[in-house]
Amino acid sequence: MTGPFKLAPLPWADAALEPTISARTISFHYYKHHQAYVDTLNTLVEKTKFADMPLEKIVEATAKASDDKEKKIFNNAGQVWNHDFYWRSLSPAKTEPSKDLASAIARDFGSTSDLIAQLAEAGKTQFGSGWAWLVSRGGKLSVTKTANAMTPMAEGTNCLLTVDVWEHAYYLDYQNARPKYLETVLANVLNWNYASENLARESEPVRAAVK
Ligand code: MN
Repeated sequence: MTGPFKLAPLPWADAALEPTISARTISFHYYKHHQAYVDTLNTLVEKTKFADMPLEKIVEATAKASDDKEKKIFNNAGQVWNHDFYWRSLSPAKTEPSKDLASAIARDFGSTSDLIAQLAEAGKTQFGSGWAWLVSRGGKLSVTKTANAMTPMAEGTNCLLTVDVWEHAYYLDYQNARPKYLETVLANVLNWNYASENLARESEPVRAAVK
């Protein structure tokens, strides 16, 4: 659980999300970008107090850092965690919300399509790089967005799903059309099983699969 960290395996084959997300996008996004965040994090934390911390603790401990090196550690630790969470938020197989998640969605959004519309809006309106999230606080669901490497997890919020809206997540497949990427991902490859599991373990929020 502590460093040096390793890139966790993808939960599906590189081409499994096609045509929504191409194997070519995965080849850069996972094998280059995500790997680089892992490698840079390992270099930055070596021989520091962060070397023996679980990834989540590093993110929490550096989220409000003013020190330049700690800011860099946060940026890379946040991106390692966020990407790990993103891959698990996507599924090539059709999934459905659990009974508990379905009733929470109906209560807090009205319907799944209203929730998806809010996620799309959050992703579209995130100016520059960042993330759109479905989160739960004390069982109440909401949609939020974060910039760059920030994650709701850093402030103890239970994350259920995320969509990466950095350009590297969609540019090869959708060029500048971020709304089209969001619409396609949200309609076709969201992992409702993962969201349901994350809601069920709210008292013990998700840990990254990265080791
Ligand atoms: Mn990314």
